[in-house]
Amino acid sequence: MNVLVIGSGGREHAIVWKLAQSSKVKKIFCAPGNGGTALLAKNVPIPVHDFAALAQFAKDEGIDLTIVGPEDPLLGGIVDFFLERSLPIYGPTAQAAKIEGSKSFAKYLMKRYNIPTAKYESFIDYESALAYVREQGAPIVVKADGLAAGKGVVVAETLEEAERALYSIMEENAFGQAGARVVIEECMRGEELSLLSFVDGETVKPMITSQDHKRVFDNDQGPNTGGMGTYAPVPHMSAKLVDEIVAKIVQPMASGMVRDGIPFRGVLYTGLMITSEGPKVVEFNARFGDPETQVILPLLKTDLVDICTATVNGELASLDVEWKQESAVCVVMAAPGYPGEYPKGSLITGLEQQAEGVAVFHAGTKQTPEGTVTSGGRVLGVTSIGKDLEEARASAYEAVRSISFEGAHYRTDIAAKALGNR
Ligand code: ATP
Repeated sequence: MNVLVIGSGGREHAIVWKLAQSSKVKKIFCAPGNGGTALLAKNVPIPVHDFAALAQFAKDEGIDLTIVGPEDPLLGGIVDFFLERSLPIYGPTAQAAKIEGSKSFAKYLMKRYNIPTAKYESFIDYESALAYVREQGAPIVVKADGLAAGKGVVVAETLEEAERALYSIMEENAFGQAGARVVIEECMRGEELSLLSFVDGETVKPMITSQDHKRVFDNDQGPNTGGMGTYAPVPHMSAKLVDEIVAKIVQPMASGMVRDGIPFRGVLYTGLMITSEGPKVVEFNARFGDPETQVILPLLKTDLVDICTATVNGELASLDVEWKQESAVCVVMAAPGYPGEYPKGSLITGLEQQAEGVAVFHAGTKQTPEGTVTSGGRVLGVTSIGKDLEEARASAYEAVRSISFEGAHYRTDIAAKALGNR
């Protein structure tokens, strides 16, 4: 079959890489893709928001399955657009993807389905929001309702900080329309973990557990980023805990959305805080996480095409989703200055001749006649599989040290905490 992958990050390279291993896949296209997907697929220069051009391409090329990576086209209704034209596509409809696009909608559903999460109120009026914040006191969490690239959330330790955040979101419109509504939440304490699941409406198949490292510097210092590295599985996330998360959170969410006529089909990403009262939801995302996908897919034994097809047909219940009994570690190499301003166009060396078990997923790269050059903030996700976390970690860092570009920076402590190294 012919498959089209939409997106251009490390996540999409990992999806293309996994598809390339399937005996069922003949041709892979990636729109618009990056320097890494270009090596395994044919990059197509169509932007992710041009649904008409993407659908026309899928029709012309006889695409049997389209897989959507990023949230923006999902929220914009790409799945609805393709389905209206009878083009097979993997991902949630715009209505279902709203669990990521609107925090107040996600909170509303959680309340409705009795899913454990932080207590909250949402407001469109600044004075009422301010009064609520003053009544609740600090610590308290202030969030812009819509997507703000991870910057619309302030975990305020003092009342002053909370008031400042509220003012900036609601009165200064720091995030535009995304901040027209705010969600104010009780501050949860605990370890943050994520569990991604394949969902076809009613059926939930949890993936292997993974943990992201959001802050830019070692020991969780510095500003938040899109993610500086990840590992899987998480040793302290027991099978019992996963069962509890599925039973109390993921399954009620999936079943509730089916009952409410907004079935979720695709990857449901649950961000969790393991509090003293048990696991609680921090957020839902409506797609594969990045970089989590870069450790999850290398450990997936089952053909990804089979999972996507079963989901599209509502037959996930009868498919066994199997995982390798190994570990994976992904270390993100970023451009100098990231997550702030950064240069582009630096030549990357050392990409070839990586050891067996190492996969270098490209995020912000481009192929040029001179070679592969940087073209984004997160440049590469250097991933390695090993028999255990220690082995995977050692070989991932060995690979990182063999690759270079000007000013490259990366965290040196990915998976260290899980191994008791810090
Ligand atoms: P955006 O929509 O702007 O991209 P986001 O979806 O990443 O942001 P969240 O995941 O809701 O936003 O929050 C970002 C981070 O803030 C979380 O990973 C967590 O560390 C912290 N956080 C969010 N809500 C809470 C809470 N109620 N208590 C404690 N910490 C929280």
